[in-house]
Amino acid sequence: MQIQDKALEVNRRLLAFYGPLPQFEPDDPISTLVGTILSQNTNDTLSDRAYSELRQRFPTWEAVRDAPVEDIAAAIQVSGLSKMKAQYIRNALHEITRRRGDLELDFLRELPVDQAKRWLTGLKGIGPKTAAIVLLFSLGMPAFPVDTHVHRVTLRLGLAPARTSREQAHELLEQNLPPELFLPFHLNLIRHGRRICTARHPDCLNCPLADVCDYFAHLLQEQGFYLYHAPPASED
Ligand code: SF4
Repeated sequence: MQIQDKALEVNRRLLAFYGPLPQFEPDDPISTLVGTILSQNTNDTLSDRAYSELRQRFPTWEAVRDAPVEDIAAAIQVSGLSKMKAQYIRNALHEITRRRGDLELDFLRELPVDQAKRWLTGLKGIGPKTAAIVLLFSLGMPAFPVDTHVHRVTLRLGLAPARTSREQAHELLEQNLPPELFLPFHLNLIRHGRRICTARHPDCLNCPLADVCDYFAHLLQEQGFYLYHAPPASED
């Protein structure tokens, strides 16, 4: 099956399996940028708490930009790595203002996607995933974010060759997937990576994608019958 056809089929099955995706109101790009920095190396609950604490403590993003790094770190402490994240946030807000004369990112909409990505990843602490999240979710641009779940599940399914790095996967999947699939496919792969295709114990026997999955085909080849039936009792 061609990668594009396989991705469409995977997306269709995941929507049927998990149900429709939740609706959401896009946030402005600065809020998404800050929220994504906070989400690094932690879970949604803690990064959401850190985000609301930050918003409660500082009335505007300009106030965050102009605050001492220690005060930002104190507000986001619950998210972990708070000092480093506070520095990245403060630096990004300062750098955007310095380059643009204002704290806004809407101008990125006017740029080709590659250029918009380069602009964002030129900010210290902003990698390809964060840049793609800002472009896709806040600006509606065709960028495909690859986080740890998306990376793992796409490689197992065979949508990208084994050993494709996360950085390479961004480009490869963007080239091979239809842009209208970027947002639902990204969200569906995260749902699947969290619930069934987990890092350590993928639940392949209850997975709706098993018959189109390279990893499962490999398992079947290696272990075959024994995946479905307990091995015969030893006669010793
Ligand atoms: S069959 Fe297994 S490895 Fe493949 S997508 Fe499903 S859970 Fe993941």
